[in-house]
Amino acid sequence: MTGETILEVRDLTMRFGGFVALDSVDAEVREGERLGLIGPNGSGKTTMINCISGALGNYTGTVRFRGRDLGRSKPHRRTRLGIVRSFQIPRPFKSQTVRENLAITIEYATGAAGAERDDRAEAVLQSMGLGPRADAISAGLTQIEMRKLELARALAARPQLLISDEAMAGLSSGEVDELLEILFRLNEDGVTIIMIEHIMRAVMRFSERIVVLDAGKKIADGDPDTVVADPAVERAYLGD
Ligand code: ADP
Ligand code: MG
Repeated sequence: MTGETILEVRDLTMRFGGFVALDSVDAEVREGERLGLIGPNGSGKTTMINCISGALGNYTGTVRFRGRDLGRSKPHRRTRLGIVRSFQIPRPFKSQTVRENLAITIEYATGAAGAERDDRAEAVLQSMGLGPRADAISAGLTQIEMRKLELARALAARPQLLISDEAMAGLSSGEVDELLEILFRLNEDGVTIIMIEHIMRAVMRFSERIVVLDAGKKIADGDPDTVVADPAVERAYLGD
């Protein structure tokens, strides 16, 4: 069961010059929910996430988090409120270790320092199964370890709403399952999750509800089986 509305998007519109990348989108996410956000390439998924995370500030319409209008607040402020995007925080510093990367993220996202910061880094390392790689230089990580580090950094920021934008691209089917298990576990711990993913098997397995964008408009919103059977969704993908 899911709870109150945690995120509410109303009449969200984003223009790049004369091009309308998001066209009056309405959507809600409930506390504890696992929402899939899909749509053909260029349909506006990342743009929508950029508006929610604050990376794009010049949208029109409203983004409310726990009832509070976020106005034009910056990404850093939204991170501290608990809206965390897996790629929002700068990518890993390749010359630093996994542990150092987490420590930097924790300071940036929560302001914790010293022993408090280090203890939190250790807890995240353990929960992500990255303990044995804690002192490895990030540049030497495998692809799956790198994805785990990116998720670990998102987790280190103490998300209430975690947004994962194509975190699974290029991974093997076993690795996709491994990341899915981590996301399920986070969700069980109370984190609301929006997953953007091209790998339909992953989206279908993970999502309780799916929102579909096409050419900047929301064309479907509902339970996964109904949404994928929707002729409008099929047409959007065929036209891709
Ligand atoms: P998706 O993530 O669904 O593939 P995007 O949100 O990245 O789609 O892009 C939606 C549309 O907006 C695309 O046509 C893209 O080219 C355009 N777009 C995205 N960001 C910018 C930008 N900064 N400047 C101009 N056009 C952009
Ligand atoms: Mg995208």
